[in-house]
Amino acid sequence: MTPSRTENDGIVGLVAVVLILFVIGAAWGTMRVSERLYFEEVKTRAEATLAVQSATLERHLDKYRLLPALLARRADMIEMIATRNAEDGASEMKAVAGMSGAREAWLLDHGGNLIASNLALPVAQQTVNRAEVRSAIAMARDGRLGRALLTSGDGLSASYLFVSAARYDHHLVGFIGVRVELAEVEQSWALSTAGLLAVDAQGRVVASNVPDWRNLPLRAARDWYEDEGDPIRVLQREETIDGNSLVRLPTPFSTEPFLMIKQDLPVLGWRVAVFYDMSSVREQAMRATIVAVLLCVVAAGMIWIALDRRRRLLARHEEQRANAEQLEVRVRERTRELSEANARLAAEIVEREAAERELQQAQAGLVQSAKLATLGEMSAALSHEFNQPLGAIQMHADNARTLISSDKADKALGNLDKIVAMVKRMAAISQTLKGFTRKAGTTIERVAVAPILDEVLMLSGHRCKLMGVALEVDKGPAGLLVQGGQVRLAQVLMNLIGNALDAMKDAPQPRLRLQVLEQEGLVQIRVEDNGPGIDPEVAKQIFDPFFTTKDVGQGLGLGLSIAYKIMRDVGGTLSYEPSSLGGACFIMSLQLADATMEA
Ligand code: ADP
Repeated sequence: MTPSRTENDGIVGLVAVVLILFVIGAAWGTMRVSERLYFEEVKTRAEATLAVQSATLERHLDKYRLLPALLARRADMIEMIATRNAEDGASEMKAVAGMSGAREAWLLDHGGNLIASNLALPVAQQTVNRAEVRSAIAMARDGRLGRALLTSGDGLSASYLFVSAARYDHHLVGFIGVRVELAEVEQSWALSTAGLLAVDAQGRVVASNVPDWRNLPLRAARDWYEDEGDPIRVLQREETIDGNSLVRLPTPFSTEPFLMIKQDLPVLGWRVAVFYDMSSVREQAMRATIVAVLLCVVAAGMIWIALDRRRRLLARHEEQRANAEQLEVRVRERTRELSEANARLAAEIVEREAAERELQQAQAGLVQSAKLATLGEMSAALSHEFNQPLGAIQMHADNARTLISSDKADKALGNLDKIVAMVKRMAAISQTLKGFTRKAGTTIERVAVAPILDEVLMLSGHRCKLMGVALEVDKGPAGLLVQGGQVRLAQVLMNLIGNALDAMKDAPQPRLRLQVLEQEGLVQIRVEDNGPGIDPEVAKQIFDPFFTTKDVGQGLGLGLSIAYKIMRDVGGTLSYEPSSLGGACFIMSLQLADATMEA
């Protein structure tokens, strides 16, 4: 059983759906897996970046963290503060700032008032007056390392302040402060493509490689970036990948979410965060997905083509099978029709053969009856032919007896010789008659023309004489042989002569001419009369069977048609033309037979 068309369509639809689902699934899977892989890669890179950049910041500040404490232990420094030696202090501070790379270095008295600075005092005083500086001095007074972040407030880099107390014999003498600009750290961070941000415990931006971020209105919060209600508009947590925060950042970065990774700097009490652009992850994952989708589409296409080809092949096989079946049915039908036609044909052949046989029999009968008719016609002539010699024999016999009885036997011999001659003649006539009545043969043989003429002349001689016909006979070259049959040719000739005599019935001086001509392998036997001849219109029909102009009972109209057929059968022809005698001329044409030729 083969699936129907609708079943096929159903299967095709199912395969299409499966292939589409396969492509979609492959796309989704590739997207997920490649996103995860690329994310891991980005995360690793981000962590490495964060570690390096945090260390840079820490190292930078560490360098300055101990500088004020070390300076505060120097005796010359303590003396300079104690004696308020502004002049030496200023040059010393210039040397410290110059050598360490700090932005500012201060000497302050125990009240926190500025004694000396590497910068001009009025400029330095402004900074020293800031609240952050005062609180750092207060911390140092308490025996801790004074620290303060000094934001510029105008988008410039912030700076950081370390303050140490200078003591002599446990008595506070004054303070030494070092202000460091964080621009240097920011410069090294600028080399990183990722966004970097350092905030202090109060949530103030310490440093960033994105200038705009320096003025972010960050709220002081311990974990500001994880606070849901954070008013920070620009650093909103968007989503997470594996528990890692993804945030959306303001310009100049893209609007794509960024991966945020943070690290605490416990010594400074700061937190550094790196923001890694996730767009590349998305892009790469998308690219991998596109490649995967394309491969899947190609694979699906190939599967589809293979299935389709298989389906077509099956359909073609099915069609061929159906065609073969149909053909077989048609061949069977055709064979049946042919055998029926054959049977009909065979029956027809049988019928035709029977009809042919009947026809042949009828023809043979006709020939025979025509012959008998001729024979009937001849019987009168024959009886005359026989009666005449019989009368003569009677007379000669009587004479012989009279002569013998009167002892003139020698004279009787003449009579007996005449009797023998008469008997011979009668035997010849009867022989001829016997030959004539026997059924004509069908073979073509070599026959001599002269004996045939003799035979028919003898048979029709009596009638000619009765009618007073002037007979002209030209037997042609002696020993002429033709192809034919003795009896059949005699029959034809008898018929032609009979017709001529019939035609000359009313002629005042009837003439009959028999002529034999030989020309180029053909022998003509011409029978001419001086009867009324045949009208050209009538002449067209004379060879047709049953055509006669004679009265009922006089003629059958078969003579000429049978004669015509006989001539054809022996390989000759029978034709008509007007005779120079004024009547009709019938011409029998026959093949000349060589005397040496085999029959
Ligand atoms: P039938 O002699 O029985 O009529 P035939 O076939 O022998 O049949 O002749 C057909 C016809 O041809 C005759 O009826 C006659 O009209 C015509 N015919 C034959 N021979 C001659 C002839 N020698 N002269 C004129 N008419 C002839």
